[in-house]
Amino acid sequence: MSDSQSQVRLFPPNNTMPFRSRIPEELMCRWCPPFEDSAKPLVSVFVTSAAFTQFTEHSRIDLENEVGGGLVGSRHVDARTEEQFVLIEGVIPARFTRQGTTFLTFTQDTLVAMNDELEECFPERQLVGWYHTHPGMGVFLSHFDLWLHDHFFPEPWQVALVIEPHSEIGGFFIRQKKGNIDAQRYFGFYEILTQAGLSVVAWSNMHPEGEASSEIGDGDDE
Ligand SMILES: [Zn+2]
Repeated sequence: MSDSQSQVRLFPPNNTMPFRSRIPEELMCRWCPPFEDSAKPLVSVFVTSAAFTQFTEHSRIDLENEVGGGLVGSRHVDARTEEQFVLIEGVIPARFTRQGTTFLTFTQDTLVAMNDELEECFPERQLVGWYHTHPGMGVFLSHFDLWLHDHFFPEPWQVALVIEPHSEIGGFFIRQKKGNIDAQRYFGFYEILTQAGLSVVAWSNMHPEGEASSEIGDGDDE
């Protein structure tokens, strides 16, 4: 492979048109953060139950060091409201990373491997963002996280998910209309429930829309 080809593979063109779709309202649960969201994200985030399970399970494999990966899915424009949203359908755990207790670095090899796996295993899908863990820390983007996000996931609609695996909390960082991102304020998301209509989300910092946060988790078998 020539250098120019590898460059293309490292940063594949993300100029494919979004699908015109209808926001799926059936079998859906909106999860809200604990604070009022006065800011409006450029895109809404929808997550399948399968994808949520995948990044949650990956987040638990190392409770000392940060782990992460790519969020695989598709980009949409709602056919009725013209609102943009991304649908996260799976994950690609990152390889060739450098990580420690308080940092995670994607390398060029990480991105090449991620895009290779995307092409091979998820044809017609895109990297709609990335995720990583903050073991024992809060849900925020560090200066380095912001750098990584801007350099490796620069499209306005690409999102960053941070998960704290000890307390099982998480949140999505999404750019706003002017391209700015608040490193301390995460957004909620829409969960696509399982076919049986069940939820797999168990983040204690989020509550279903219309319910107070204290009312979630009425099953106490965990
Ligand atoms: Zn981080």
